[in-house]
Amino acid sequence: MEPTEVAEDVYEIPRSGDMRVPARVYASEPLLEKMREEGQTLQQVRNVATLPGIQKYSVVLPDGHLGYGFPIGGVAAVEMDGGAISPGGIGFDINCGVRVLRTPLDYEAVQGREEELVERLYDLVPCGLGKGGYVRTDRDDVDGILRDGMEWMREAGHARAADLEHCEEGGRLPGDPDAVPENAKKRGVKQVGSLGSGNHFLEVQRVTDLYDEATADAYGLREDQVVVMIHSGSRGLGHQVCQEYIRRFEREYPDLVDSLPDRQLVYAPLGDEAAEDYRRAMYAAANFAWANRQAMTQAVRQTFEELFDEARVDLVYDVCHNIAKEETHEVDGEEMDLLVHRKGATRAFPAGHPEVPAAYRDVGQPVLLPGSMGTHSYVLAGSDRSLELSFGSTAHGAGRLKSRTQAKKDYEAGSLTQRLRGEGVYVKARSGETVAEEAPGAYKDVDEVVRVSDALGIGTKVARMRPIANIKG
Ligand code: 5GP
Ligand code: MN
Ligand code: MN
Repeated sequence: MEPTEVAEDVYEIPRSGDMRVPARVYASEPLLEKMREEGQTLQQVRNVATLPGIQKYSVVLPDGHLGYGFPIGGVAAVEMDGGAISPGGIGFDINCGVRVLRTPLDYEAVQGREEELVERLYDLVPCGLGKGGYVRTDRDDVDGILRDGMEWMREAGHARAADLEHCEEGGRLPGDPDAVPENAKKRGVKQVGSLGSGNHFLEVQRVTDLYDEATADAYGLREDQVVVMIHSGSRGLGHQVCQEYIRRFEREYPDLVDSLPDRQLVYAPLGDEAAEDYRRAMYAAANFAWANRQAMTQAVRQTFEELFDEARVDLVYDVCHNIAKEETHEVDGEEMDLLVHRKGATRAFPAGHPEVPAAYRDVGQPVLLPGSMGTHSYVLAGSDRSLELSFGSTAHGAGRLKSRTQAKKDYEAGSLTQRLRGEGVYVKARSGETVAEEAPGAYKDVDEVVRVSDALGIGTKVARMRPIANIKG
């Protein structure tokens, strides 16, 4: 059970019991220790190794921690032919993801205007339920969004062609609205352009450090620049899709559920009707998440145009971190068609990969890695060893260290908000509870997570940012 170090920052848990492949933990000793303390993370990565059709190894990344069935910060790639799809390997918030927008402004231009900026953003980007976001939609629009994602947004006048080019998968997967339960659609009608709760945020940041100037230049990033990071997903719609398909899988495969090491691993064999319905529904929910992040992007554009003299806001990139997708990877020297589950994991394709947009093809795919509202966040570049080590993936954040309950005991919202203001970060949240739950101390050390990714060569450092202003759901 105890992982053995097989190379610097690489630990392996050998096959035993029903494991079909070994487990791989990419972490430093201190980060591995955090996973041990949490108790179940290492057991979860071993459980994932029992999934039918899994290839090479079950992976946990340096930000890995406990999740529903599968760890958050996990990658599991299964054969399309004979493998299985598991909602727990994707997560409840389907296509939760991150995008970064660049502005032409230097920090000086927004310094002293943080409150005004936050208030305007807060007006245009609702956090919670039912109020409706920047883009008003009806039930038919939701179907269109589920089918076409970013393409629907472009046709409706809410996205530029360049926005689509700078999303993973062009902001559209082959989703089918008919596979999405009616209950889920109802929840989606008034949620396009809304942040969602707690961990989701819209953050104005300042680029403080560049590690790779040529790549930063290709991404349009420079020191002291103001950028905006958006972290959100498919809202209640995606959650409902996940929940209803878990129930359907449990109903249709009762014997399988009984045989699992953990019932939260429930899956369906690819090719079965239940599996394919879920896959089409999950892709549709992913399309909804892209449209949601795009609607908030439009709100950010309006805000910057109004407050900063028509300042132009461009999309650097948009990544998914809760998704499963069909990709081709080399396994034992052979090209294989795989379904890659990334749950709390970011795709990190290297330079030259055909899926990297033309503008970044020579430097690698941008990887967007948030830290917390009081620490750094990073832009990395997908790097050569990611294909070999982690099916082209790296970490998705610092990773949670303390449960929300624990964080609420340990931190007090008022003094935390004041302290952050003193450090130049203006935070506005829906409630004090959110602030406490999302305290920087509730997350692991992002610099250490990134150091490991960089040292392994799966996602290498390009730029680092500090928050200036943050709105939270
Ligand atoms: P998750 O998708 O697992 O909820 O969160 C992704 C990551 O976002 C977390 O692991 C954490 O490092 C980061 N994060 C959470 N809240 C904030 C915030 O307010 N600002 C920034 N920059 N990062 C955050
Ligand atoms: Mn989410
Ligand atoms: Mn997320």
